[in-house]
Amino acid sequence: MKIQYIQVAIPVPMRQLFTYQVPVDLQTPTIRIGERVIVPFGSREVVGIVLSTEQQSDIPDNKLKAIKSRITDSFHFDSALLSFLKRCADYYHHPIGDVLKQALPVLLRQIKQPDISLPARWRCTTQIVDLDSLQKKARKQFEIYSLVNKHQSITWAELRTLGFTKSQLTALETKKLVEQYQSQAIKYQWQEPALNEENKLQLSLEQAIIVTAIKENNHEFSCHLVDGITGSGKTEVYLQAMEEILAANKQVLVLVPEIGLTPQTLNRFEQRFNVPICLHHSGLNDSERLQTWLEAQRGSAAIIIGTRSAIFTPLHQLGLIIVDEEHDGSFKQQDSFRYHARDIAILRARQLNIPIILGSATPSLETLQNALSGKYFYHQLLNRAGQSNIAKIELIDVAQQQMQYGLSEHLKGAIDETLTKGEQVLIFLNRRGYAPAITCQTCQWIADCLRCNKPYTLHQGQQLLICHHCGSQKRIPLQCPSCNSTDIQAMGQGTEQLEQRIEELFPDYSTVRIDRDSTRKKGALTKLLQEITHNKHQILIGTQMLAKGHHFPNVTLVALLDVDGALFSFDFRAAEHMAQLLVQVAGRAGRESKQGKVLVQTNFPEHPLLQDLVHNGYGHFAQYALTERKQAYLPPFGFQALFRAEANYPSYPDKFLRALTATAYNGCDLIGPVPAAMEKRAGKYRYHLIVQAKSRKYLHQAVWQLLQTIPKNEWQNKVRWSVDIDPIDLNW
Ligand code: ADP
Ligand code: ZN
Ligand code: ZN
Repeated sequence: MKIQYIQVAIPVPMRQLFTYQVPVDLQTPTIRIGERVIVPFGSREVVGIVLSTEQQSDIPDNKLKAIKSRITDSFHFDSALLSFLKRCADYYHHPIGDVLKQALPVLLRQIKQPDISLPARWRCTTQIVDLDSLQKKARKQFEIYSLVNKHQSITWAELRTLGFTKSQLTALETKKLVEQYQSQAIKYQWQEPALNEENKLQLSLEQAIIVTAIKENNHEFSCHLVDGITGSGKTEVYLQAMEEILAANKQVLVLVPEIGLTPQTLNRFEQRFNVPICLHHSGLNDSERLQTWLEAQRGSAAIIIGTRSAIFTPLHQLGLIIVDEEHDGSFKQQDSFRYHARDIAILRARQLNIPIILGSATPSLETLQNALSGKYFYHQLLNRAGQSNIAKIELIDVAQQQMQYGLSEHLKGAIDETLTKGEQVLIFLNRRGYAPAITCQTCQWIADCLRCNKPYTLHQGQQLLICHHCGSQKRIPLQCPSCNSTDIQAMGQGTEQLEQRIEELFPDYSTVRIDRDSTRKKGALTKLLQEITHNKHQILIGTQMLAKGHHFPNVTLVALLDVDGALFSFDFRAAEHMAQLLVQVAGRAGRESKQGKVLVQTNFPEHPLLQDLVHNGYGHFAQYALTERKQAYLPPFGFQALFRAEANYPSYPDKFLRALTATAYNGCDLIGPVPAAMEKRAGKYRYHLIVQAKSRKYLHQAVWQLLQTIPKNEWQNKVRWSVDIDPIDLNW
């Protein structure tokens, strides 16, 4: 008998499926689970995903709408991916329709379907080429040509990520040396010379033991934490662990932090394997992302490297997942579907029964605890690979020192010394803009964003006040609105101002600033990073953008100007994050063969956390932090969910959340409701309620029960609310 009814997941924030009829003329070919259909919903038409098919329905036919049409291309969610996504929806208590929407490339969510025959890859033509002359006349074109030739084919997205420009590629095309072609649905096959043996390194004993352990578990689920300082050779471990998987014609998915996909990272993979690589990151446009998705699904891509949402890529035959810098906060999505890509990567590996590697120099306490308790394999790399040494961290007590422009005498001396040796300096300040506030010198008035009750940040370059919380902008006042005084001055220092001051102090050297403002333009970051590598700049100033992924071989001094905020935060994770940041930034210093130094300016050099970190390292600090968490039943020893609510009036979110606390829940504590750390943002008042449980089971039961009460909650339509499982940002 033909299917008549289907249950469809629709991208709306409702926690339910919707039943539709399938008219007879749409019943053949048989509807598959996971395919896309176009259905009427309210007054619109939307793309939904078929989740079940039935021959009967409890709802009378005259109450059911019929689907409009079916999208009968070859792209549907296969059953493995679908069951993975359902698990994700269950785990995060998030509507399945929205989960599926996020897993689907934008272009496949549209009613108007895209042209799937995208011009896809570049390859070399058969035209004879004089490589020597090309190398001499146009080095970049030569590099592109060699790369394309070695890989048989390459995507424009890859070339762009590696820092090449479209005009370089077009020049080669004009010379008829490369051409675009339509990549076919051919499954990737390991063919010699897929591995560039000459780039392979002789593993150290430490590394060899890890690679062996991973390989021994290649055929089943196993989770490996590779815990090793920056430069200890984790990437080499990944590369060698990938070999057997790729050689078995299986795919490898590599997840990297938001800004961790640098040309250097990509290069390492490119240079080792001559296999098709696909990318997925925020620098790609919708059709490029669709292309990656399709190539991964067809199995024509061997390696997929991507940020957070790459975890949803359909993969023809996934054999290994790698999560690099697993501790990184960017793996957690902070709005709507609040998943953690690392956590669901583990789920996916378990479902597919394949190994997963988590790598970090500063593992998250959650992961570390799983490794220490034996749930994961725990591999440590204690020495730096090659010949470089670990940078020494020193604390500078700024309370005891003369300061100029936020720099202590000691630090200025160290900068001078480093520059004189012809080496580079990295100065880290996690505050962009010119100054974090402006204030009236006469009456102490401060220019606050009224929508957030927080000071505006002064952006001198743009001549604007910008609120970093809601984005609102304002002209810089010439007069104090409170007392009419014209004596208005900047208070505190951001990267923009620091850049100016440093240029004054060290006029003989070139200073460059890397933050969200200076890298807004497409390709700007790549360009600046290249200039740094080529020693065009000697002093680098940056926010945490500079803390990740990039290798600056000539940087031998790293300075952190202001780390004190994290020492006294009420967020129990602040110390962990600060320690990770400090160690990651320190990891930028003194790679290659030069000895590096890290100077940390602080008012609290005796603080036990800083002392522990400096003298005993991250591992020791982390174990101590774990003991503290255990005593307080905090994650990873307790389990948390966070209900957030916001509205135009403070009483609404408060009352909405208070109503949730009416019942007691088995094995759980409800903490709150309390106003959020940012009590007001963009004009909305914000409150939250923490659900804390001793076991995951109790947590999920309680959250489920709480969600059941919401339809009856009289405040529900007056607030915007959300639930966050395993929240990492209590400081919202
Ligand atoms: P991580 O990923 O931990 O930062 P990498 O894998 O990037 O470390 O290695 C750091 C540096 O050490 C790189 O320049 C790499 O080429 C080198 N390296 C790694 N493993 C070895 C090895 N076994 N022998 C020699 N050099 C190595
Ligand atoms: Zn005033
Ligand atoms: Zn604001």
